[in-house]
Amino acid sequence: MEQYELIWEYQQVDMELEQYEKEMRNNTNRKELIKYRDFLLEQQGALKKIETEVDIMGDRLEALVDEVGRLNKTVNDYRTQLTSNPPDSQEKAKELITTVEKLVSKIGRYETEIAKLRKDSEARDRQQREVRVRAAKARAEFDRIKAIYDEEYKEASKHLEVLKNRVASKAIGINKELLDKYTVIKRHSSPPITKIREGRCGGCNMQLPAADMNSIRTGSPYVECENCGRIILVK
Ligand SMILES: [Zn+2]
Repeated sequence: MEQYELIWEYQQVDMELEQYEKEMRNNTNRKELIKYRDFLLEQQGALKKIETEVDIMGDRLEALVDEVGRLNKTVNDYRTQLTSNPPDSQEKAKELITTVEKLVSKIGRYETEIAKLRKDSEARDRQQREVRVRAAKARAEFDRIKAIYDEEYKEASKHLEVLKNRVASKAIGINKELLDKYTVIKRHSSPPITKIREGRCGGCNMQLPAADMNSIRTGSPYVECENCGRIILVK
């Protein structure tokens, strides 16, 4: 058999293999698994974000509680001072009262913030639980589909192996240069080997130049397309 006939047959099985690989990539369960995997990663990210927020809130809460404790102690100290060592003028008494009032209002503000932080923390806890439940459901679904897909993949891999072997056996007897050329053309134009169709390239439909038509008339079994680079078989 001529080289161009061999490469033509080689292409038939090579395209079959390519098509099968494409089908494997497009497997519905495989796509579902990718979707679930992405979703799980997203949930992980969400949990991490909540954890960071909870940490920051916890630090702030701790600092506020400490500060409120310290301020309360100061207020108590002033109160003790008022009874044990009362100020000797009305002006000083007023000053002291103003200081204490300021402290008490500060404590009030901090306590409001503490209450808000506690409420927000609880909301974050709820969020965290919800995310965990969602993730667990997705994980179970992922595992369920994975078991099915693994079986499918095992079967598909067997068939893929058969196709690969067929491609390899079809390559026997073909010049290495021609095979390399096939591979190079395939990168930009697939399938790389085509047939002539009413004086045009069967791949890109470009009209063949007069020079190519001449060499066909003088018996050349194939020409190369100037436009897409494909090998155009004449017969
Ligand atoms: Zn072409």
